[in-house]
Amino acid sequence: MATILLEVATPDKGEVFSKDINMLIVRSICGELGILPKHARLLTELIPHAMRIKVDGGENQLFVGGGFMEVTPEKITILADSAESPDNIDVERAKAAYKRAEERVTAYKTAPKSHEEIDIVRAETALARAKARLIVKGVPIP
Ligand code: ATP
Repeated sequence: MATILLEVATPDKGEVFSKDINMLIVRSICGELGILPKHARLLTELIPHAMRIKVDGGENQLFVGGGFMEVTPEKITILADSAESPDNIDVERAKAAYKRAEERVTAYKTAPKSHEEIDIVRAETALARAKARLIVKGVPIP
């Protein structure tokens, strides 16, 4: 089966993933994209989510906390704000981040005028990161 090289790196950790894969399914700011070998050139921004990597008949997930993706026919390069394979995700930390962010989002949405100190975009993005980490670990969202 045809393959395409996927490289994922972050400013904190450097290279997080580098492997020939069969297909990548990602969520960009323009919606979901399926990338196969020989894909047309593309540059887009990713949102926090659980990327799906298809390889050798199986599928793995990799957390990406947003960033940029460049695609050429031979290679997919993702420079991510943060990225973790399932083995490197700390579930308790993700659950705590989820709870913190959810409380902020709920407080703001219930009474925005009394919570003007809350940066709602930041809180919603933090919630999306925590949710995606829990999805990659297969932990039910509370
Ligand atoms: P937190 O509020 O727990 O710091 P966050 O979503 O704000 O979470 P990020 O800004 O995405 O964290 O990441 C900062 C660094 O911490 C990155 O190197 C990232 O890989 C790491 N990190 C964050 N949360 C986790 C987690 N649950 N498990 C493993 N590494 C994590």
